[in-house]
Amino acid sequence: MDHFLYRDGALHAEDVAIAEMAEAVGTPFYCYSTATLQRHFSVLDEALASAGLSDRIICYSVKANSNLAVIATLAKLGAGADIVSQGEMVRALKAGIAPQKIVFSGVGKTAEEMRAALEAGILQFNVESLAEIDLLADVAQAMGKVAKIALRVNPDVDAGTHEKISTGRAEDKFGIAWDDAEAGFAHAKQLAGVDATGIDIHIGSQITELEPFRLAFEKVAGLLANLRAQGHTIERLDLGGGLGVPYSRGNDTPLDPATYAALIADILGEAGCTIMLEPGRLIAANAGILVTRVIRAKQGKAKNFMIVDAAMTELMRPTLYGAYHDIKPVTQIEAEELVWDVVGPVCESGDFLGQDRALPVPEDGDLLAVFAAGAYGAVLGSSYNTRPAAPEVLVTGDQFEVVRARPTYEAMLSRESLPDWL
Ligand SMILES: *Cc1c(COP(=O)(O)O)cnc(C)c1O
Repeated sequence: MDHFLYRDGALHAEDVAIAEMAEAVGTPFYCYSTATLQRHFSVLDEALASAGLSDRIICYSVKANSNLAVIATLAKLGAGADIVSQGEMVRALKAGIAPQKIVFSGVGKTAEEMRAALEAGILQFNVESLAEIDLLADVAQAMGKVAKIALRVNPDVDAGTHEKISTGRAEDKFGIAWDDAEAGFAHAKQLAGVDATGIDIHIGSQITELEPFRLAFEKVAGLLANLRAQGHTIERLDLGGGLGVPYSRGNDTPLDPATYAALIADILGEAGCTIMLEPGRLIAANAGILVTRVIRAKQGKAKNFMIVDAAMTELMRPTLYGAYHDIKPVTQIEAEELVWDVVGPVCESGDFLGQDRALPVPEDGDLLAVFAAGAYGAVLGSSYNTRPAAPEVLVTGDQFEVVRARPTYEAMLSRESLPDWL
């Protein structure tokens, strides 16, 4: 459920009319709803609580939407952060997330990033290879510290999701191979600079079936038992993110957080561990829309194109993954519907937001909303074609505020310079 609803034919974000924001901010822009962010976090947190998982921490996956105001909104609810770079750590800390609630994931942490995170005093490093464990142990020892680590193990389950967002199969680049996991813990135990107290998995994204989770959790339970039998002290189980969301309103049926929480409780509830989760998409996707204006419509013999002022530079998911997003007029009108490709102005044939969509014939300047764009939207933006990054606007109740401004062309060019010889 989200808070983007039509009132008298006009799309609103909570109590603010989208058209009003478009006048004030200009298009294209991202609009996020505070109430929706809060709701998604709370639904998951309450589901875990109801399932009896009292020792838990939800580390919001910052890469899904790393706007400071979005992170701060979640920080206020008690969220921790799952980060994959030093830059994301800087953001999370600035947004008010306590270092003791930050976990550092990612397959390519550098020594410099490790030092910065140890300096900040984060909760845990999720390490993905023996070489990474060795480096982290060295870095920590040189600083006189001990890094708490979880080994990210690859349970080799197929999450049944898109090729580019599947991470938990043997052939994916993530994690330590399942068969090497116990050796990995034994290896870590010999190193003074690390304390391996956790098992970590993350099997993919946009997962809409319970079964892959069940298989993975059962494997974790088995590994946990083996590790304890071998004398390891395991205190934390980080089960990653990956919960899918409805991208097609009214058609997609996502997993129910209550069912997911019950599954965790059923398989791992008695493990005596802190249960950690790293949801990104689930929290942010349906809390954001991309608002764009029709530049002009072009009706052709083979196809009709609606050319809009947002492009793959604002929302890359359709181009990158063939992802589907609902697209609707901001103001509902009674007009003839045709089938359109909704495309941006970028000079790439792959630049589209939606294909074969039934939409009313627009007037130039009409506004469209691209739904469920709050996760992996703005963060994946680029300035290809020297397009300024779309502003981000946060709504709460009847208020809205620009939480990332559109850069001027001057600002965009300010980091470039001409060498002396020109
Ligand atoms: C991307 C990522 C997440 C978040 O995934 P969602 O599908 O957005 O929930 C969590 N953990 C790790 C390690 C990730 O890389």
